Amino acid sequence: MATEKMEFQTEVRDMLNLMINSLYSNKEIFLRELVSNAADALDKRRFLSLSNSSLLPVGTQLRIDISVNKEGKRLIVEDNGIGMNKEDLINCLGTIARSGTKNFIKNLKDADKSSVDLIGQFGVGFYSVFMVAKKVEVLTLKAGETQGYLWSSEGTGDFEISEAPLDKVGTKITLYLKDDEDADDFASEWKIKDIVQKYSGFVSYGIYFHPEAT
Ligand code: ADP
Ligand code: MG
Repeated sequence: MATEKMEFQTEVRDMLNLMINSLYSNKEIFLRELVSNAADALDKRRFLSLSNSSLLPVGTQLRIDISVNKEGKRLIVEDNGIGMNKEDLINCLGTIARSGTKNFIKNLKDADKSSVDLIGQFGVGFYSVFMVAKKVEVLTLKAGETQGYLWSSEGTGDFEISEAPLDKVGTKITLYLKDDEDADDFASEWKIKDIVQKYSGFVSYGIYFHPEAT
């Protein structure tokens, strides 16, 4: 399969525009969203494995790994949760499926000038990464499947999907941080640890930090 280029749903595009140009000061919440998605994915893998034990080989530790690469200005959040196949990537990361986001957009239309506050009010999920990243790559292999995929986008009109040879189930999200100062901060290990402690203390899986991208 060659690389396929696909367009974001119109609502997603509006949302992404807002994220990219966001003046919202509390940008760090993107990490709360990524960690919560990782934890959800781990829950799903654990749950599905109850009826299909092959989805979770004995001895597998469900976990979240976060790596920062200061020089490369990259931040990587990895989980060995359920993962996504091609359809999941298109449906989950290309369209507005979740009710929170729908409400967010509805409210945005009703009151455009306070839009900035709505980012904090609603959990806007995955798309909030584009407040800090100029490019995002999602490498993922779904439990029980053999074909992995790479999804990537710069948060503008479209995203790309291609096949990727992966043998580890789960999802690895790489953020290429924007060149502005606050984005710079997110390539700092202590800052990242601080944010994770602040918002994700409730997560019941181990979260491991690494200084450099692996
Ligand atoms: P929500 O978490 O409320 O559903 P998000 O925008 O945060 O909304 O995520 C959209 C969807 O993308 C999730 O519902 C899930 O299906 C998928 N997704 C996001 N991150 C991951 C991940 N790390 N592993 C598996 N699926 C994911
Ligand atoms: Mg989410």
